[in-house]
Amino acid sequence: MRIAILGAAGRMGQNLLRCAAKTEGCEIVAAVERPGHPCLSAAVPEAPALRYTADWPADAQAVIDFTFHECVTANLANAVANKQAVVLGTTGLTDAEKQCVADAAAQIPIVWAANMSLGVNLLLELVKRAAAVLGQGYDIEIVEAHHRLKKDAPSGTALSLAEAAAAGRGVALRDVACCGREGIVGERPTGEIGIHAVRGGAIVGEHTVSFISDEETVAIAHTATSREAFATGALRAALWLNARAPGIYTMRHVLGFAD
Ligand code: NAD
Repeated sequence: MRIAILGAAGRMGQNLLRCAAKTEGCEIVAAVERPGHPCLSAAVPEAPALRYTADWPADAQAVIDFTFHECVTANLANAVANKQAVVLGTTGLTDAEKQCVADAAAQIPIVWAANMSLGVNLLLELVKRAAAVLGQGYDIEIVEAHHRLKKDAPSGTALSLAEAAAAGRGVALRDVACCGREGIVGERPTGEIGIHAVRGGAIVGEHTVSFISDEETVAIAHTATSREAFATGALRAALWLNARAPGIYTMRHVLGFAD
């Protein structure tokens, strides 16, 4: 599949270029950067036949967008004009930009996910199923750990896991979530979902969801060791999009958990 990387000199772009070189079926045809970026016209080390460009990659079948939310609208318009599939990993979209994604999806297929790691998306599915199967007799506690520089807590992934657990139980997370505990908090209410954040060192990202009954504990865990986990998922999504009908798809579709 002929694939172009948008935001090719960025952290994710570099990971995508590295991963694509070792992914069967991926042919990188363009490494696109914003106009004025110092890398323009330089050779792309991971794809020696290419030079960084600011031109739209009209010959790509799919474009993978890890750029900045303000560029997404223009990128989608170009993809629609060229009938190209899109893998959209860029986060922080405004409501208007999200509407542009929905509008574009009427004409082209788009995989859109805030976390493209295959492992995390599998974890979300497992947690939802475990919560549904095990029921209220199992207390759910989520512990996440990240490096000391991370600005937000709990992590977006921990909140997604809590959402998945709540969905499995058929409840609204806002009614059952408990982020951290301190002081005389009283007995743990039945159905509560606890979420806790550890910060330290250079931890890339760890998430453990425990289902704890009086008799046993089931723990489902994920450890990220490299940002290449997101790149691998994005490339898998691009390959999955080949000849797909227009619409918005998620990593659940890519992994075969949704029709
Ligand atoms: P980054 O700042 O390192 O890279 C972004 C790159 O996009 C920069 O090199 C920038 O010059 C380039 N860019 C900006 N405008 C452009 C345009 N119009 N055309 C082409 N290139 C353009 O950021 P990053 O860490 O690589 O993350 C990029 C985005 O991906 C962020 O929104 C981040 O939150 C998101 N992200 C998503 C996932 C996921 O799994 N979905 C994982 C990691 C990061």
